[in-house]
Amino acid sequence: MDYEALLKRGMEKIPEDVRTAGRFHIARPEVEKAGAKSIITNFLEIAGGLDREPEHLLKFLLKQLATKGEVEGQRLVVLGVFSADAIEKKLELYVKQYVTCPKCGRPDSKLVKEHEGVFLRCDACGNKAPVPKV
Ligand SMILES: [Zn+2]
Repeated sequence: MDYEALLKRGMEKIPEDVRTAGRFHIARPEVEKAGAKSIITNFLEIAGGLDREPEHLLKFLLKQLATKGEVEGQRLVVLGVFSADAIEKKLELYVKQYVTCPKCGRPDSKLVKEHEGVFLRCDACGNKAPVPKV
């Protein structure tokens, strides 16, 4: 099997692995352009799928995209034109930093606020790791 076929196989495998990890899944961002703005129509669904506060994800995305925006109902409206791919890349970064356990790699985790800062606490292995402030 050549490299490309392997890569393709690897990518096809991802949804299965995500499904076996339980409730966790990253919804593909649905993005609509509206003039100089972009609307992520399933923003709340994405935050819910990651089991994170929408406000936290919102702060992260706005900082990463270096723009302004606000939640309107289920949607997030941001200033500027961004592709679904660009937003998905940021979501993957969010998951890496704020959802996936750095020790065991599982997504069953909570963000806990303590006076030293915010920590990612893993429900699967009990690991607690500091996360960067958004
Ligand atoms: Zn863990």
